[in-house]
Amino acid sequence: MSGTLFVVATPIGNLQDMTPRALDVLRSVSLIAAEDTRHSARLLQHFGINTPTTACHDHNERDKSVRLIERLSGGEDMALISDAGTPLISDPGYHLVRLAREAGVRVCPIPGSCALIAALSAAGLPSDRFTFEGFLPAKAHGRQQRLQALASEERTWMLYEAPHRLLECLEDMLAILGPARQVVLGRELTKTFETIKGAPIAELVDWVRADSDQQRGECVLVVEGLPAAPADDVLSPEVERVLDILLADLPVKQAAALAAKITGEKKNRLYQVALGKA
Ligand code: SAM
Repeated sequence: MSGTLFVVATPIGNLQDMTPRALDVLRSVSLIAAEDTRHSARLLQHFGINTPTTACHDHNERDKSVRLIERLSGGEDMALISDAGTPLISDPGYHLVRLAREAGVRVCPIPGSCALIAALSAAGLPSDRFTFEGFLPAKAHGRQQRLQALASEERTWMLYEAPHRLLECLEDMLAILGPARQVVLGRELTKTFETIKGAPIAELVDWVRADSDQQRGECVLVVEGLPAAPADDVLSPEVERVLDILLADLPVKQAAALAAKITGEKKNRLYQVALGKA
C-alpha cells in the first residue's frame, strides 16, 4: 500500500487561520516537504510540530519529487506546504502532485487560506465566474501585452503583484483598460494592516500614488470584467475586421467614424464596440 501525499494550506498572515485538520496532518506524517524549510520552521515551531522537513522548491522540485514518490510508494505519508497559503497556487508543488497521481499515490488536499480566494470573497465583484492570472511578467512590455489580452475578458480576473511593481501595474491598467474599470486592491490580507480598497482604476492609481504605505506588503488585484456586449452589439465579421484594422492605428472616435463610412454601420454602435476593444 502506498502512502498519502497531503497538500496542506497554511495561513497567509494570520496564524489563527491554521485549521485543526492541517495541524493533525502535519503532526501525523513522517515528512513535510516545504518550499523553504527555514521559513516553515517558524510556523511549525509556533504550533509545536516536530515532524522532519525537507526542501521542495522551484529549483529542485523535479529531482526531489522522484525521491519523494519512492518514499510515498513505499508506504510513508507526507505533507506538502508552501511558505504561505495553498501550495501550487503561484507556488511549487505541481510536479510532485502530478508524479504522485501518475504513480497511483493518493493525493489529499487539506484546504485553507489562499490570497486570491480571500480577496475575491471580499471584493464585491462578480464571483460566479472568474479567472486567475498569477503574476504578470515583471518587465513592462510583457506585462502590457498580457493586459492587452485581458482587456476583453468578461469574467472577473485576478492577479498577484509584487508591491514594488504595484503602481506601475495599475498605471498600465489605466492606459490599457481606461479609467472607469473597477479594481479592488487586497493588501496584507488577514494581517494587521489589511486594506481592501475598490475604486475605478483612475482613482485607485491616484490613491496608491499618494500613499507610499499602499506600495508595501503583499497584494492581490481583482479586476472587473468587461461587461458582455448586448446581442445587438455583435458586429458582422467583416465590419469587425474593418474596425480592428482602423483601431490599430487610430483613436476610438476616429476609427468608429471611418468604419461607419466604409461599412455603412451606425457610427454610435461602432463607437460602443470600439470602446470595449480599446
Ligand atoms: N500560495 C499562495 C496563496 O495561496 O495565495 C500564494 C503564493 S505567491 C508566491 C505570493 C503572492 O500571493 C504575494 O506576492 C501576493 O501577491 C499574494 N499574497 C500572499 N499573501 C497575501 C496576503 N496576506 N495579502 C495579499 N496578498 C497576498
